Amino acid sequence: MKEKYDIIIIGGGVAGLSTGAWLAYKGLDVIVLEQREKPGGMCTTFERAGTFYNPAATILTGYSEGNLVRKYCQVLDIEKDMEVINLDCAFKTILPEHTVYLWPEVDKTISDLCRMFPEERQKINELFIKIKKVHQEVNSIAFLGPGLIDFFKVPFKCPNMLPLAGKTTTQFLSNYFSNQKLQAALTGVLPAFMGPPSKVAAVSYIMLMMEFMAGELYTPKGGIIKFPQALNKALEKYGGETKLNSQVTNIIIENNRATGVDLADGQRLKAKYIIAACDATTALLKLAGKNHLKPAFIKRIEETPTSPCLLVSYMSLDKDLLKAGYTPAHHLVSHTYNYDELYDNLEARMYSESDYNHSLNLASIADPSLSPEGFSTLQIQLNVPYQPQGGWKKIKENIGNIQIKRAKKVIPDIEEHIVVQEIASPRSFETITGSRYGAVGWAPYPQYTGINALHHITPIKNLYLAGQWAEPGEAIKCCVLSGLQVSKMILDREGLKNSIDEIL
Ligand SMILES: Cc1cc2nc3c(=O)[nH]c(=O)nc-3n(C[C@H](O)[C@H](O)[C@H](O)COP(=O)(O)OP(=O)(O)OC[C@H]3O[C@@H](n4cnc5c(N)ncnc54)[C@H](O)[C@@H]3O)c2cc1C
Repeated sequence: MKEKYDIIIIGGGVAGLSTGAWLAYKGLDVIVLEQREKPGGMCTTFERAGTFYNPAATILTGYSEGNLVRKYCQVLDIEKDMEVINLDCAFKTILPEHTVYLWPEVDKTISDLCRMFPEERQKINELFIKIKKVHQEVNSIAFLGPGLIDFFKVPFKCPNMLPLAGKTTTQFLSNYFSNQKLQAALTGVLPAFMGPPSKVAAVSYIMLMMEFMAGELYTPKGGIIKFPQALNKALEKYGGETKLNSQVTNIIIENNRATGVDLADGQRLKAKYIIAACDATTALLKLAGKNHLKPAFIKRIEETPTSPCLLVSYMSLDKDLLKAGYTPAHHLVSHTYNYDELYDNLEARMYSESDYNHSLNLASIADPSLSPEGFSTLQIQLNVPYQPQGGWKKIKENIGNIQIKRAKKVIPDIEEHIVVQEIASPRSFETITGSRYGAVGWAPYPQYTGINALHHITPIKNLYLAGQWAEPGEAIKCCVLSGLQVSKMILDREGLKNSIDEIL
């Protein structure tokens, strides 16, 4: 490790590593500092007794042919370092009277919906024409700069997206139909990851839906950790460094300019630019410090809500779910068509066995290398409050048992097959990644997304934000995109124009 670099990146999750690898590829001297003993952050895989679990991400979003993450990997020659498995379907939503599949082919999903709701056929088709246009428009402005000229290009490039900018998902869908069952069938992906449709931004919903429908879906063989491992290899190949077990405790600021960092072990590193690819609240309010920020900005950070907190149970079953005919996909199960109801009194709802609001991630069963023969891995997610009364230690196991009872809706004999169960509360996620409330970025509501999102450029010169706590938000693809957006800004400043042209 040297004392001076061009770029210091705080955080070795997918955002930090992908940003670092790109900047190193472009010739800058980069170091990624990660507080944990392995890279990947939330995008990781752990092992218990010969079985491997992905604690958070399973689907490598953005990896379909021609999509951003695939192109990124092609340019950096990463594809060969990672074998991927094709998934047939991203989401299966199980509602009281309907089962809806989100296929990685828009037209197949549309046909299913039209068959289920024939009286709404025309409106369903009109809706998807709009969705496709908005998706294309938002992608077309991904690399516009922060300046005024680019700002004024948006209305011309995004005539379909702009009227939706301040709208929620429910407001958007209500333009097409009032049928609550159809609206629930279309929004099953939201409750588990983003929040209630009446609050989640219409544009965030469209981008998430299309991510799972517009092209093939993949998971890396051997666990999602193969992706950050491949990024790390690329970073080092192009001359960058990763330093593990290195917690940043302070961002050095001189004349309102970030100039370096202090590490927990007392070392001091200097750099021209600092990129915080970790929790933005910690980076700005603690590592940089409130004394460098205006009260209105501090208030904004403190008061912006986060995405839903999750309790996740990881299980190993002595049953081959793939052979038993289960679809390797996220199974979203809800006893109600009114998803808003699921967010009323989260604490009381956790204890209800009949309340089916939860999701079972069966995507990893597509990869037999994760479990011994005849076994399967399973992950069950539930929206929960950050800190329930009495604390997580006392109730975690009880809630885990209730989750198993609810999961019988999908796997009726689950209780007879559990060989391992481990439970992560929001506090566990918080401890592992340092993310506020253990959440997956900010709440994707219109007030906090798009033009209202936390920008990569911070009030402190040469300090940038990347990853799920900056625009465009959560998920692997967004993290890679945010890193490329920051890279472009820095490389532009360094006079290296057209720095992301290979990706476009
Ligand atoms: C249950 C669940 C399922 C998900 N499923 C999917 C999915 O299928 N597909 C998908 O694309 N996305 C999925 N996601 C979202 C995705 O995992 C995240 O958005 C993404 O991994 C975030 O990456 P990141 O690099 O921004 O942040 P993180 O992964 O949080 O990385 C930040 C890193 O910074 C480090 N750090 C923090 N503070 C410091 C410090 N002071 N000094 C040094 N290092 C520090 C942390 O240790 C961490 O490694 C899921 C998330 C969850 C919770």
